[in-house]
Amino acid sequence: MLRTHTCGELRIPDIDKTVKLSGWVQRSRDMGGMTFIDLRDRYGITQLVFNMETHSELCKQARKLGREYVIQVEGIVAERSNKNSKMPTGDIEITAEKIVVLNQSKLPPFTIEDDTDGGEELRMKYRYLDLRRNPLRKAMELRHKMAITTRNYLDKQGFFDIETPYLIKSTPEGARDFIVPSRMSSNQFYALPQSPQTFKQLLMVAGYDRYYQIVKCFRDEDLRADRQPEFTQIDCEMAFVEQDDILDMFEGLTRHLFKEVKGVDVDQFPRMEYSDAMKYYGSDKPDIRFDMRFVELNDLAQNKGFAIFDQAELVVGINAVGLADYSRKQLDQLTDFVRKPQIGAKGLVYIKYDADGSFKSSVDKFYNTEDLQTIANRFEAKPGDLILILSGETDKVRKQLGNLRLEMGNRLELRNPNIFAPLWVVDFPLLEWDEENSRFHAMHHPFTSPKQEDIALLESDPAKVRANAYDLVINGVEIGGGSIRIHNRELQKLMFKHLGFTDEEAQAQFGFLMDAFEYGAPPHGGVAFGFDRITSLFGGSDSIRDYIAFPKNNSGRDVMIDTPSQVSQVQLDELMLNIVKFKK
Ligand code: ASP
Repeated sequence: MLRTHTCGELRIPDIDKTVKLSGWVQRSRDMGGMTFIDLRDRYGITQLVFNMETHSELCKQARKLGREYVIQVEGIVAERSNKNSKMPTGDIEITAEKIVVLNQSKLPPFTIEDDTDGGEELRMKYRYLDLRRNPLRKAMELRHKMAITTRNYLDKQGFFDIETPYLIKSTPEGARDFIVPSRMSSNQFYALPQSPQTFKQLLMVAGYDRYYQIVKCFRDEDLRADRQPEFTQIDCEMAFVEQDDILDMFEGLTRHLFKEVKGVDVDQFPRMEYSDAMKYYGSDKPDIRFDMRFVELNDLAQNKGFAIFDQAELVVGINAVGLADYSRKQLDQLTDFVRKPQIGAKGLVYIKYDADGSFKSSVDKFYNTEDLQTIANRFEAKPGDLILILSGETDKVRKQLGNLRLEMGNRLELRNPNIFAPLWVVDFPLLEWDEENSRFHAMHHPFTSPKQEDIALLESDPAKVRANAYDLVINGVEIGGGSIRIHNRELQKLMFKHLGFTDEEAQAQFGFLMDAFEYGAPPHGGVAFGFDRITSLFGGSDSIRDYIAFPKNNSGRDVMIDTPSQVSQVQLDELMLNIVKFKK
């Protein structure tokens, strides 16, 4: 037996037991007559003591152990005279009797400590060493807990975990597919799934009316910060359901995860129409931990001689409560913020409602006190508040103000990571205009059903058609989304037509699904949660990478195994990819 206990296990009641532990040398300290070693494994750290007087050979052996050596130790559990209340095993130590070196270690390229000295790239290259560190170990534990809690919940609700293939057919879901050449069918290709979307719908046709999978999805997108080319979803589908059934079920799952994993009760899951989310928060994923809703001002702010407002499609603002004492410099910072290219506003108008009840604004020339008071009243502003106003094209200005709202939320410390404010955003538009290609795209995916009452608009005003589509948003982060699907061949065909597919193209790519709809497809719908994202939200971090054991870097590379990489000419020849010849 290499160990009787783990390094996180022993306590006062174990005193005098003879035990065997195995683990890694975290650190050793020589204190003259004594040598101390912190022995670490996944479960914790236990202190080993070597006594020079009583066990001089052993003590000398211990002094030679380097960091990260793997050792086995046999010894007796003793009460510590110097207890460490910060460690769960801090009341005891092991008086070592014998050690066996199970393996040596080179000096690690960075310290295996909570705060390490290793840079990001180095830690990615030696990910297996980084994973030994506590923060990552905790992240993996959290991920496991999220997965098992999800599985238990969905199992209790009667969901089957059914695997769907990874080698599938190219089916656009908004991103580019990863393509896999087939050796046996030359010049033909598989694609890796962007999600199991079509398969889970086929499972509904097959009668498996509650399906889930914690599943890898692959999207060949230009990598933005915190995106991974492969990521994991909690993917679900249900048959014989309406939108509310799905929202209730996955609200239940979310609530259960909060309770079981974080011990947090979240009771409110408000539902907000997409159009309201845009109008009041300038975002389809509003952070509703704080209010600061948009207030529209066209009727009050226009026709007063201020050309910028007069020419704008929308004049809209927010009230930053209590910030009227902002200095010139702070206001300039805000102007710089909205002018950043990522935000793109031209300027910022402010109205300070000073504590003494007077007004100071950047547009005093055009608005008298009464005008400013009327505007302040619409915001329900109080003396001491600061009103910030932007103007321009409706869609753009809303997004800009949405960013400013989040910035003000940060400044006012209204975005507490320990508070969780979920909401469902519902009634998304079905289609989205793609400027670049001058055509409509499915905002969610082409299998999403339009609202029955909006189907007629498909011909006359496609942009106005609303979908039976919804997103779960928590603290301004999109956790997941889904929709009620089309389950009828004709409607699906019509949808493809509006997305610019010819009948032949639609049949070639999605014929299998439309054919299935002709064999008794039940009404169905589903949702997928970003598993990496919800885990990182629970972990209190913005970075999904910390919650993935072996992630890719920002350029989509795995720097540990060094891939993407070249393959041999033999492999290429077998695949008949002879067009590709590598430059030597
Ligand atoms: N397949 C969708 C996605 O990956 C989710 C869904 O509609 O269920 O976003």
